[in-house]
Amino acid sequence: MKYEGVVYRPPSEARSLIIQVTIGCSHNKCTFCAMYKEKKFKIKDINLIKEELREARNLYRSVRRIFLADGDAFILKTSELIEILLEIKDLFPECERVSSYATPRDIINKSNEDIRMIREHGLEMLYMGIESGSDEILKIINKGVTAQEIINAGKKAIECGMKLSATLISGIGGVDKWRDHAVESARVISEINPHYVGLLTLMVEEGTELHMRISRGEMVLLQPQQVIAETYEFINNLEVSECIFRSNHASNYVPLGGTLNRDKEKILQVLKQYMNGEGYFKDEQYRSL
Ligand code: SF4
Repeated sequence: MKYEGVVYRPPSEARSLIIQVTIGCSHNKCTFCAMYKEKKFKIKDINLIKEELREARNLYRSVRRIFLADGDAFILKTSELIEILLEIKDLFPECERVSSYATPRDIINKSNEDIRMIREHGLEMLYMGIESGSDEILKIINKGVTAQEIINAGKKAIECGMKLSATLISGIGGVDKWRDHAVESARVISEINPHYVGLLTLMVEEGTELHMRISRGEMVLLQPQQVIAETYEFINNLEVSECIFRSNHASNYVPLGGTLNRDKEKILQVLKQYMNGEGYFKDEQYRSL
């Protein structure tokens, strides 16, 4: 199996077999993201994907989870995704879960019937990067969708039987827009009520448009304590049920987790302690993406 370029996957897919079905990201325009800048987006040849699945079968005795990479495998035509899922079922009968990234636009562009069919053929979980629920911030970061489109996409995926994991980025609005980011993100997540919500913390990569904006003084980054205040506002405004919350990524200053809204008060208490100066923040040198 030969991977093209650096391959990214969600932290929870660390033990999954990764199969690249696309190369890069079909959008590739978010101002903070450098993940796929060196890749020209393409959909891999279906025969090559099947060959790699057969190769993987020969290499691994037991495969419990498969993650379809790169940036948004869900952009594939429904017929192609189903062909891949049928091959997976045939070759890896022991596989318990297949998942992929999906942009809100990928979900919007598929019919409910298609999403249901894909789900029935074994793609069980979608990871959707939301980044922020603020329309102003979404525009600045060039996400290519509005908050309402994100809500529609998330609700649609869930209605069609998908498990949905939504990801946001703490600090993405900088000092000027942290409150808007927290409140609007809480509103969007509350409306979607995803199964999982993950919070990463912004890390600025050289060469990105965001890096240039910061160098020009157009945005000021949050300090760790301000990130915690933003997270407090976000959690405090959330109204979800049985939503697994994780903020334990390598980029986060403080590890947090729980099931919301059940653990809301507990998480808010921890955040309050950090806001009052009790507790240590992860040193910048140990943060990574
Ligand atoms: S953040 Fe996601 S959608 Fe935006 S460019 Fe990066 S991979 Fe693509």
